[in-house]
Amino acid sequence: MPRGPSKKVAERIARVKEILPALKRAYPQAKCSLDYRTPLQLLVATILSAQSTDVRVNIVTKDLFRKYKSAEDFAGVAQEELETDIRSTGFYRNKATSIRGMARALLDGHGGKVPQTMEELVKLPGVGRKTANVVLGNAFGINVGVTVDTHVTRLANRLKLTDHATDAVKIEQDLMPLVRQEDWALWSHLLIHHGRAICTARNPQCGQCPILAWCPTGKQLLAKPTAK
Ligand code: SF4
Repeated sequence: MPRGPSKKVAERIARVKEILPALKRAYPQAKCSLDYRTPLQLLVATILSAQSTDVRVNIVTKDLFRKYKSAEDFAGVAQEELETDIRSTGFYRNKATSIRGMARALLDGHGGKVPQTMEELVKLPGVGRKTANVVLGNAFGINVGVTVDTHVTRLANRLKLTDHATDAVKIEQDLMPLVRQEDWALWSHLLIHHGRAICTARNPQCGQCPILAWCPTGKQLLAKPTAK
């Protein structure tokens, strides 16, 4: 006989039923904050976003996407030239290597196009599950997972929606059953927006938080007597 969710997961699902609409109301425009027009552009932007901010990446890609328009362009540029073009996003040597290798792999195995499956995407140089989730969910509307970045990790823990402190793959496994598959991409956008706006790393604004009613950590923080 198929078993339903455990008591713990059922409790989380019940809270997320309230949290998701509250976040949708708070962030009606929530979407991927990287600028892109094509799946290739989103793939490049997502690789660049590691250890950087989306604002910084959008500044860099404005010129980058004028200069490089195809997988051929990215595969054909010299390493040093691409490093210079993306330098301000940090870790530019590794990122340039990844982008050139990824573009070469697209040409060799996919006719220069970005593939639309997790299995194929994670085989590309520099592309892990997180990047693949971003590209599939946003460029193709295919929800195969929940993107877990630093904000999602923090919020999943504060909201007690996961049992794992830092392991992104395990946190993703905990988050996926809590919302419908069609909402997986939106779910992570909402958590990321909330992490930037209210539930920041250093100074969460629990008193102004629209999901305080369903957040065990917020209730604990607000219940603490203030130091004299
Ligand atoms: Fe974050 Fe506080 Fe809101 Fe909980 S109540 S989600 S800890 S800001």
